[in-house]
Amino acid sequence: MGTVKLYDEDAYKREFSAVIESIDVKDPDTCLVRLDRTLFFPEEGGQTSDIGTLGSFEVTHVSIEDDIITHTVMCRADDLKTGDEVSGVIDWKRRFSNMQNHTGEHILSGIMHREWGIENKGFHLSDSIVTVDTSSELPEEDLKKLEMLANDAVYRNIPTECRYYDAASLEGMSYRSKIAVKDSLRIVTIPGIDVCACCAPHVSHTGEIGIIKIIRAIRYKGGMRLTILCGERAFSHLSRIQDITDDLSHMLSENTDKLTEAVDRLLNDNNDLKIKIKNDAAKRLERDIEELDSNAPVAVLFTDAVDNTVQRKAVNRLSESRDTICAVFSSDGDSGYNYILSYPGHDARGISSLLKEKFGARGGGSLEMVQGNIKASEEEISALLRQE
Ligand SMILES: [Zn+2]
Repeated sequence: MGTVKLYDEDAYKREFSAVIESIDVKDPDTCLVRLDRTLFFPEEGGQTSDIGTLGSFEVTHVSIEDDIITHTVMCRADDLKTGDEVSGVIDWKRRFSNMQNHTGEHILSGIMHREWGIENKGFHLSDSIVTVDTSSELPEEDLKKLEMLANDAVYRNIPTECRYYDAASLEGMSYRSKIAVKDSLRIVTIPGIDVCACCAPHVSHTGEIGIIKIIRAIRYKGGMRLTILCGERAFSHLSRIQDITDDLSHMLSENTDKLTEAVDRLLNDNNDLKIKIKNDAAKRLERDIEELDSNAPVAVLFTDAVDNTVQRKAVNRLSESRDTICAVFSSDGDSGYNYILSYPGHDARGISSLLKEKFGARGGGSLEMVQGNIKASEEEISALLRQE
């Protein structure tokens, strides 16, 4: 006979007593304990297990196989005895959060099915988030509608029902998650919203979910993967977002509802500045080329970031009247340089190999011109090229 599932009878009970049926030692500090009955919901159907205490020992995980529920308990072999009665307490904060999130998921999946005929292809409820994988995609405006309808179902505080039906009663009944029925099947009903086969504890009224929020929707295996938060998890998430927008609002001296425009202005200004800096650097580079001694042993210039075309033209100009190493190293803003180099009358690839060998530079090119990226200082690069 399987373990009696006390959580099936009352999802709100937090404490219970039971008789220990067997104990297996997993390691010196961990035992696997089976009871005649339990309030601990095991990891099942995409949901993580309850945790809590058994006697004075911590229950860290609970699993189920062939209807037998096994508790992973942090105790030694002689701490608990088979046949003894033991009391258990579940971590209610975690359980209630799971109930809020799981029932919220039923509401979302039920409405997607009712409104758009979309199937739930996968469900995972972890300690922090819930993901739902769908059979097809919904455009953004329909996702907004879905979220609105789901929260409307929360406001209406609809009573939910969890009960077992035998195979005969299930015939002709329409519900999600059709699975093979042995003797009976547990059906969770949210009238007008969803009917679904499910083994997990749920809240008794939808109002207890508080809020249902879709925080992410990405394309996934021909459908979508929705990340959702309900109840306290959604509240904490939205509080964090508010802290961030408040900080940004102070930093930018702008009302929160004008933050998008303010950031847009900032990005545009930043872009204009970058263009100005590049143009100024191009002018300075031009001057440096004019002032460079035509008899210098190497014609190597260092500059702030400039466009690749400006850099290439500069190297071409240097090479026109010289047969020495001609190069422009343009700062890449990350303690390195993008370089373009030519060596008129020689194979420029030789210098490229040298830079690779000495400083781990990356890049390559043709006999006439090479380009790449190098992480080294102006002094180090100049010293090396002057030796050639
Ligand atoms: Zn479910």
